[in-house]
Amino acid sequence: VSPDHPDKYRVLEDAFGFSTFRSRQEEIVDAVLSGRNVLAVMPTGAGKSLCFQLPALVKGGLSIVVSPLIALMDDQVAALKLSGQKAEAIHSGKSREENVEIWRRVTRGEVSLLYMSPERLMTPRMQAALTKFSLGLIAVDEAHCISQWGHSFRAEYLMLGALREAFPGVPIIALTATADRSTRDDISEKLFGGDVSVFVSGFDRPNISITVADKTRAGAEIERFVKSRGGQSGIVYRISRKKVEDTAAALSAAGIRALAYHAGMPPADRAANQEAFLAEPGIVMVATVAFGMGIDKSDVRFVVHGDVPSSLEAYYQEIGRAGRDGEPADAYMLYGLEDVRTRRRFIDEADCEPERRRVDALRLDALIGFCEATSCRRVALLAYFGESSQACGNCDICLDPPALADGRDVARLAIDL
Ligand code: ADP
Ligand code: MG
Ligand code: ZN
Repeated sequence: VSPDHPDKYRVLEDAFGFSTFRSRQEEIVDAVLSGRNVLAVMPTGAGKSLCFQLPALVKGGLSIVVSPLIALMDDQVAALKLSGQKAEAIHSGKSREENVEIWRRVTRGEVSLLYMSPERLMTPRMQAALTKFSLGLIAVDEAHCISQWGHSFRAEYLMLGALREAFPGVPIIALTATADRSTRDDISEKLFGGDVSVFVSGFDRPNISITVADKTRAGAEIERFVKSRGGQSGIVYRISRKKVEDTAAALSAAGIRALAYHAGMPPADRAANQEAFLAEPGIVMVATVAFGMGIDKSDVRFVVHGDVPSSLEAYYQEIGRAGRDGEPADAYMLYGLEDVRTRRRFIDEADCEPERRRVDALRLDALIGFCEATSCRRVALLAYFGESSQACGNCDICLDPPALADGRDVARLAIDL
C-alpha cells in the first residue's frame, strides 16, 4: 500500500468499480500523482484511460484531456458519465450554445475531465481562459499522432510541443498503444523535451508460441506447417497479391480450406471470404496485410508469415491476431535473405524524406536482429517495445537452443559461464 496517495484505492472502487489495478497502472498513477511527466505505452484494451482519469479525480479540480477524434471523445465522456463522473467534451460536432453551456459548467467547477482537440487547447484564447484554473493534469491520448514516422500523424498534435511552457508545473501524461522505439523517442522529444518517465507494459502474449524458420521453399514450408495444424483457423500472410493467389491455390489443391484476401480482389469476393473466415471454423485465410484490421475472431490458432514483414511493429500486430482466446497459438515466420533485400529495396526506392528512410531502415534492422536472435525471441520482441522480460520457454530458441560453432549450445554456454 502506497502511503502517498491512499485516496487512489477509494477512487478506483467508487468511481471505476474495480478492486485492483491492472499491470502497471498503479505505478503510472503514482508517478502522475507525484507530479511527474509520464509516457504510458500499453496495447489497446490494456486500460490506459484509467491512468489519467484516476489521478485527475484524486487531484480534484479541472483536468484536460486531448484527443484527436470527436468519436473517441464522445465514447470516453459517455462511459465516464455512466459511472457518475463529471466529464464533458467541447468540440466542433456540437453547437455553439452547447459548447458555451459546457464552458459555464467548467467555470462553476462542475467538470473534472474536459476533453478537447489539440488545436482548440492551443488557441491563445483557451490558454488565457485556462490560466484561471489550477489544472490537475493534462492528458494527451493517442500520443503517437505527434510522430511523423507513424501512419496516424496529425499536424495539430505538433502544436502540443508548446504545452509544457504554456502550462508550467502541470503534469502531462501521454498515452499510446504504438510502442516502437522511434515513435516513443519522437513523443518523448516533441512533447516533453526528453523530460519524461516512460512506462511500457502489457505487450506480452505468452500463449503465442513464436518460431522463425529458414526460408528455402516457401510454398512447401507453408503447406507443411498448415497441414500440421489440420482443421484449425489460421492466417497466412504473403507480401504480394500474386503470392496470395498462388499460395491459396496451392493449399486448396492440397485439400486445405484456404481462401484469398487482398486489396486487388473484387470487393464482393473479398467480403465473402472474410465473412466465411469469421463464420466457419477451420478456414485458412491467405492474405496481404490488407487483412486483419478490426477482425475480431478469438480462435485463430496460427499466423504464418510466408515472407518477412515490414517491421517488428507490424509483425507484433499481425501475430496478435492469433490466440485472442488465451489458448495456445502459433506464430510461424519464414525468414530469408532475399526478402530482406526486397524490403531494403522498398525503402531505398520509396518516394519520401531522407529522415523517414533512415527510420524505416532502422526498423528493418531491428526486425533482422529479431530474426537472427540467438536468445529468446520474446525477450527480443518485448525489448524492442521497451518492455523487459525473462526467457519465455515458448519460442523456437528457448525450446531448441541453436548450436554454437564449437558444438556447445547456447543454453549450455550460459551455464558454463
Ligand atoms: P485502452 O485505452 O488502453 O485501449 P481502455 O482504457 O479503454 O483501454 O480500457 C479497456 C477496458 O479495460 C475498459 O473496459 C476498462 O473499463 C477496463 N479496465 C481498465 N482498468 C481496469 C482495471 N484495473 N480492472 C478491470 N478493468 C479495467
Ligand atoms: Mg484509449
Ligand atoms: Zn523464448
